[in-house]
Amino acid sequence: MKLIILDRDGVINHDSDAYIKSLEEWIPIPGSIEAIAALSKAGWTVAVATNQSGIARGYYPLSVLEAMHARLRELVAEQGGEVGLIVQCPHGPDDGCECRKPKPGMLRQIGQHYGVPLSGIWFVGDSASDLETALAVDCQPVLVKTGKGPRTLAKALPAGTLVFDDLAAVAAQLLT
Ligand SMILES: [Mg+2]
Ligand SMILES: [Zn+2]
Repeated sequence: MKLIILDRDGVINHDSDAYIKSLEEWIPIPGSIEAIAALSKAGWTVAVATNQSGIARGYYPLSVLEAMHARLRELVAEQGGEVGLIVQCPHGPDDGCECRKPKPGMLRQIGQHYGVPLSGIWFVGDSASDLETALAVDCQPVLVKTGKGPRTLAKALPAGTLVFDDLAAVAAQLLT
């Protein structure tokens, strides 16, 4: 199967250092919904792995997070596509969980769900921790320049990292 895994904040929707705490604050980056739909329609399974420590911090409840993901699914469906498994880490940095990136627990969960090896699968993110997560399970690290991408780009990237302007450019590359 053709599987691609995406980070959420800063890749699919605009990010904020103050967290995305409500449905109103969940605003897609231009072209991202179309990109997911186009990949899906071309036979790609598009999964999502997102750190959501705002849950542990009490900034928003799980129901709000679920509403954001329902919106994402709905917008992609309107474009004729489908979003695959969305996995979230609701824990804080001190909870010692195995899912919070850069720990690769969420990527492993996605691999297990679909029964595919993660080796070489593209994991698209905007933070250094995303790239680290990808490397931990032998995924292909892919950096987009949206969200925290410019900040991440200012530091040294792991060898072999692919860099694109945004998710639309990633999709365009995979669909050529
Ligand atoms: Mg991000
Ligand atoms: Zn976690």
